[in-house]
Amino acid sequence: MEFLQPATWPEALAMKAAHPEALPIAGGTDVMVEINFDRQRPASVIDLTRIADLDEWGMDGAFLRIGAGVTYARIIDELGDRLPGLAMASRTVGSPQIRNRGTVGGNLGSASPAGDAHPPLLASDALVELASATGTRRLPAREFYIGPKRNAMRKDELIAAFLVEPAKGAQQFCKVGTRNAMVIAVCSFAVALDAERRQVGTGIGSAAPTPVRWPASASSSPPRRDPSTTCAARPPTAGTPWRCWPAGA
Ligand SMILES: Cc1cc2nc3c(=O)[nH]c(=O)nc-3n(C[C@H](O)[C@H](O)[C@H](O)COP(=O)(O)OP(=O)(O)OC[C@H]3O[C@@H](n4cnc5c(N)ncnc54)[C@H](O)[C@@H]3O)c2cc1C
Repeated sequence: MEFLQPATWPEALAMKAAHPEALPIAGGTDVMVEINFDRQRPASVIDLTRIADLDEWGMDGAFLRIGAGVTYARIIDELGDRLPGLAMASRTVGSPQIRNRGTVGGNLGSASPAGDAHPPLLASDALVELASATGTRRLPAREFYIGPKRNAMRKDELIAAFLVEPAKGAQQFCKVGTRNAMVIAVCSFAVALDAERRQVGTGIGSAAPTPVRWPASASSSPPRRDPSTTCAARPPTAGTPWRCWPAGA
């Protein structure tokens, strides 16, 4: 197995262009399992752990731009106040060891329908930044997942970052599993309220071939709140937008 170890981002993109079949490795918490169980035997691997750009995050206009190599532990510690939904999901990932190594970029790369980062990214209308030696493009997360463990990344591309607006209202994440920790989601659900746009975003995991947004939440008509009502955690019937229900109804 050829082991490619770029030191800079341009070098990594050039290597990926020259070796489109090479498998990127970040935290390795998915890749090493695949190799150990002989599910994959890549001819070459590109180690992304030396690329400082992937470990950075900061504001980019109205968005937080978070490098693909930022780990779950750092999302929890450094971004928990700005991205509470993603931080909640990150707290449910594996064990402390997995959260110290595993990255959101790796979760996107694997594109498992059960990946815990996906529902909050969908709920917050995140963008995925893909880069190649020829340029960069940003794709809405909802267009990134194209099948079970398949994503829209081209063979010459790498995931540079994801972009998400800081929370503009309450966010929640819920994971149903067969036990409380170290468990794959039987089903997961994220919700993000946008108080400014009066919208509700959703993301659902382990319920379809890809992580999905609930179509009703993507409705162009923002949910309206009647001041005489209180919000109750009651799901609307299929096809109707999420709304506030009168107290006691
Ligand atoms: C014990 C254990 C428990 C786990 N528990 C959970 C859990 O609770 N929830 C959950 O969602 N996952 C869980 N996982 C899976 C895994 O930890 C996550 O999917 C994690 O996000 C993978 O990140 P990584 O950096 O380790 O990715 P890697 O293993 O390095 O890579 C994963 C995939 O992404 C690709 N990739 C990585 N970075 C890039 C990049 N910058 N550009 C392009 N492609 C890239 C790789 O080529 C590979 O296909 C668990 C794994 C283990 C071993």
